[in-house]
Amino acid sequence: MPIILAKTAGFCMGVRRAMNLVLDAVNKDNTDIYTVGPLVHNHQAVEMLRNRKVNIIENLDNLPAGKVFIRAHGVTPEVRQRLEQPNVEVVDATCPFVRSAQLIIDKYAKQGYACIIIGDVGHPEVVGLLGYAQGNGYVVSTESDIANLPMLDKVCVVAQTTQSSDRFHRLVEKIKEKIPNAVIHNTVCSSTDERQTETLELAKQVDAMIVVGGRHSANTKRLVEIAQSTGTPTYLVETSDELNPTEIQKYHTIGITAGASTPHWVILNVVRTVKRIKRESGGVVYRATSSLFRFLIDTHLYLGLGAAALTYACGILQGFVPEWRYLLIAFFYICSMHIFNSFTDKTAKEYDQPERVLFRRRFRIPLLWFASGSALVSLGIALSLGWIPISILLVASLGGLFYSLQMIPKSLQKTVRYRSFKAIPGSKDVFMSIAWVMVTVIIPFLSQTKYRIEMDDMIAALFAFSIVFIRSIMFDLKELEGDRIIGKETLPIILGRKKTNAMINGLLILLCLLLMLSYLVKWTTFVSLVFLGTIGYIFFYRYLHKTKTIGEELLFETIVDGQFLLTGILAYVAQLSLPGYI
Ligand code: SF4
Repeated sequence: MPIILAKTAGFCMGVRRAMNLVLDAVNKDNTDIYTVGPLVHNHQAVEMLRNRKVNIIENLDNLPAGKVFIRAHGVTPEVRQRLEQPNVEVVDATCPFVRSAQLIIDKYAKQGYACIIIGDVGHPEVVGLLGYAQGNGYVVSTESDIANLPMLDKVCVVAQTTQSSDRFHRLVEKIKEKIPNAVIHNTVCSSTDERQTETLELAKQVDAMIVVGGRHSANTKRLVEIAQSTGTPTYLVETSDELNPTEIQKYHTIGITAGASTPHWVILNVVRTVKRIKRESGGVVYRATSSLFRFLIDTHLYLGLGAAALTYACGILQGFVPEWRYLLIAFFYICSMHIFNSFTDKTAKEYDQPERVLFRRRFRIPLLWFASGSALVSLGIALSLGWIPISILLVASLGGLFYSLQMIPKSLQKTVRYRSFKAIPGSKDVFMSIAWVMVTVIIPFLSQTKYRIEMDDMIAALFAFSIVFIRSIMFDLKELEGDRIIGKETLPIILGRKKTNAMINGLLILLCLLLMLSYLVKWTTFVSLVFLGTIGYIFFYRYLHKTKTIGEELLFETIVDGQFLLTGILAYVAQLSLPGYI
């Protein structure tokens, strides 16, 4: 029973922009935040904002002091005017596409044109648009509405941005029959168009469709209509709780799409639940495999294995075959640190990975025992290697534990912005990469008899640092919305998605060049060329992530953390096939 998640599912540009503006203000500004009506048409998103103390203004007569956001759907000019008051800072989060439709109506209304809006009567966006028509506006949603229009001379026609293109063109034809010289402006937004086209195509391919979104959201309802028009059974759900397992089990292939204002965590919860239903109704082999992967990932054993594989690979790159003790140190250290840190970093996961949070709550004690035991085992093995490895590991372990600790007292929080290392923007990615380099490169290097740092050691450290850093940023990108909600300042939040992606691509290209150059100038052996396979793999999974092929966390983590296992396998194959080089 494959599940196909539409690539366009999730916030559209306008909704994301409005959300980001409000959440950035919540996280950074020390003032009360309000929105004029619900910011977006989605109950879960509005509830999340309410939890972050963003209140909705229902009555404009009594405006409170603070920052007031105009929602993505926009408002009438009259409401804009009423917001202009002392003590009120107005922030316009109207979607640029909606704003453009408002300005078109404004321009024509000032020239004496009547305005026809193809849309839904009473929808907040339509109400806002009508406000610009200077009392000379009409809303039509059916052919009979057009038939009932009075005789109009100068007419401008626009669409509510979330109308379907088909309906817009059909109704425009009817309007032209009645008013041939009507000026037409197609203001259906491209994001709506793409979402609807994809929904139509997807609904034709699958046995059933699930549309995730608010019942009162116009664009969600439109997606349901489009999917139903293909004859495919279609279910509208607001959250995963509304999924009916008996119904879902009836279908082999299920398509999932979502309205423009549906938060990504709500969509992912639906995908997870459908997958869980699939697991429960699937064959024994399938159930066992997916449960095994979930267990390995939730306990960080999979990542620990990756750390051991990377240690092995870095050793081969440095010109020696690492002994088992180095691999075990990396395995136990990475398991323990990631488990400990997962308990101090759970807030964003409440949104992004609720099943993971549930697992941690349920197995809190065994996990903490395992993490403590792993830390001790890694220290014990390091001790057996000598005082230098144990000292390095102690520094790495204490660094990992102190990373989340708030070392600056609360009383000084006004003078010192960052009370812990963790609070420094982007610090997690850098600290984590350094810790990995310590166990995968530095400890094995210092445990060797040679103490002279050579170029191959530097290349190995840079290679390990870069791929761990990229892995960490990939997780930040995936958890962007959850992190923004809780006010966590990760690199993608500071730089933005576009610049972060450019940074990763730049880093990958530099790493490629470095690996090739280091072989050409004989800093390293042929093995560095073999590791170009890892870079290719990273480019590949970045493509899968960009196209939303690997959105769900189990698949995402299996594939992304698989880069370490792949690197270990490449190193092993290189060692076997090119024994003379190592
Ligand atoms: Fe803007 Fe289009 Fe989103 Fe509406 S659906 S908020 S017009 S991007």
